[in-house]
Amino acid sequence: HPVDWPTRDLLSHRVAVTPQRTALLDEETGATWTYRELDRRVDRVAASLEEFETGRDQPRLGVLMDTRPTFVTVFFAAMRAGLTVVPLNVRETVAELAGKAERTAPNAVVCERDTESMALEVVDAFESDAATESPAVLTVDEPANGRTRRLRASVDAGEPDATPLVEPVSLERDDPLVIMFTSGTSGEPKAVRLTVGNLVASATASAFRLGVDPDDRWLCCLPMYHMGGLAPVLRSTLYGTPVVVQRSFDRHETARVLDEYEITGVSLVPTMCKRLLDAGWVSTESLRFVLLGGAPASSELLERCRTASVPAYPTYGMTETASQIATATPAEAASHEGTVGQPLVFTDVTVVDDAGEPVPAGETGELVVSGPTVTPGYLEDEHTDTAFGEHGLYTGDVGYQDEDGRLWVLNRRSDRIVTGGENVDPGEVIAVLRAHHHVEDAAVVGLADDEWGERVAALVVPDAELGSDGDGALEPHSLLAHCTPHLAGFKRPKTIGVADSLPRTASGTVDRDAVRDRLLEDGVDVSGAA
Ligand code: ATP
Ligand code: MG
Repeated sequence: HPVDWPTRDLLSHRVAVTPQRTALLDEETGATWTYRELDRRVDRVAASLEEFETGRDQPRLGVLMDTRPTFVTVFFAAMRAGLTVVPLNVRETVAELAGKAERTAPNAVVCERDTESMALEVVDAFESDAATESPAVLTVDEPANGRTRRLRASVDAGEPDATPLVEPVSLERDDPLVIMFTSGTSGEPKAVRLTVGNLVASATASAFRLGVDPDDRWLCCLPMYHMGGLAPVLRSTLYGTPVVVQRSFDRHETARVLDEYEITGVSLVPTMCKRLLDAGWVSTESLRFVLLGGAPASSELLERCRTASVPAYPTYGMTETASQIATATPAEAASHEGTVGQPLVFTDVTVVDDAGEPVPAGETGELVVSGPTVTPGYLEDEHTDTAFGEHGLYTGDVGYQDEDGRLWVLNRRSDRIVTGGENVDPGEVIAVLRAHHHVEDAAVVGLADDEWGERVAALVVPDAELGSDGDGALEPHSLLAHCTPHLAGFKRPKTIGVADSLPRTASGTVDRDAVRDRLLEDGVDVSGAA
């Protein structure tokens, strides 16, 4: 038998070493829990979850809960009891959630007071086939409905030295720990299988890039049903440092928490960072790093961070790699404009051309990633088959690497516009539009066109000074005139719209379908202009 590394859940290891250290601080209620207190709660929840293990090789637990310490409790309890966690997005509709529940077939769904009625509706909408039973609904709070069952002693820490009720299961490296859905930017969200090994490798590699200080304190204000919210919790448990949990982002509240709790690290999507800066946020002495990921951080945003002494680390990551792939330091981001830095240790990125052949440094192609953080595959085999190739996982992202391995992410493969047989890189058009001194942001998409197949279309956001009904400087025809000297005819937008903001997905990426809808509705056709 090969040497493997059977392990217990991360919390079991942690509590044995530093039981008295703070694990969680709940910004909402002011409560704080030590690792010992968290462990006690987890033990009890795990005891009541054990009933759901029966009859299934890899039992699954849906979690329909907000970003709160109880989410963390349920997560570690599932890990202790050997269940795979399926985090569900509380902002989705019942129909969307029922679809996800059908695909993942959880044995039970855990909810809380706020989500109980939704969980019951999801389970009612769930079409169980012969092989799967409709999931049970469990809650960490007092049930409001007779059909919901309460998890035993879930919020009661119990006697501090009470005998544990459960023996933590032994986990192998390749055991599934989470099924995490992608953000669905390019289609229906994909269900990504992440193993114990993926998540431990991710936390370890992240520590090698950012360092760990015993006094670190991470703020988690991204939803825990996305990698960006779950990763800080797993990392901190491995490192033995506390996490401050904030249920949702709010520019004023988050700025206050960063300050009051003397936060040392936080993950944000670029739009959140921008909103914080707009609200007058300046860094505290204690802040060590702000990971900016999920979407590109513009040079302008990074410049504003420098002015406010915010240590911004542009980061490229994805659900399929349990978060970070590459992260740039603030110094690197300043000296190499637009970079997301070098891949984390153990992670390899290969840039390949359309034929799948690696290209030399400086040349653009699709980014292919490999290493221990990379998922073994999606829940649905057809996605796995198309995503994996010779050099690893094909990310669908387009970019290039310099001689030192620093990475630039330009756009997604699927964003490429083909007009009259010519390829247009939306990033190039966006860069020209953004160079206009009254343009704050822009999105460029292809719209179906009878003559050209697709035509280039742009949705432009004026800067705050100007506003969307400003002085006419951002009138579509004058925007086109601005592009004319910089872009070949086929690259110039044929349809231009102006909006207050770009529609975005929950994880901060531009929602391209919504951009298309906006442009179809009120974009101006400028194709006739000279
Ligand atoms: P789906 O896979 O369902 O289309 P998604 O790719 O948006 O959704 P996530 O896993 O949340 O789902 O996001 C990862 C993607 O976000 C990356 O593949 C990349 O396209 C984009 N991304 C992340 N960080 C950056 C960055 N720093 N710069 C540019 N793009 C980024
Ligand atoms: Mg993706």
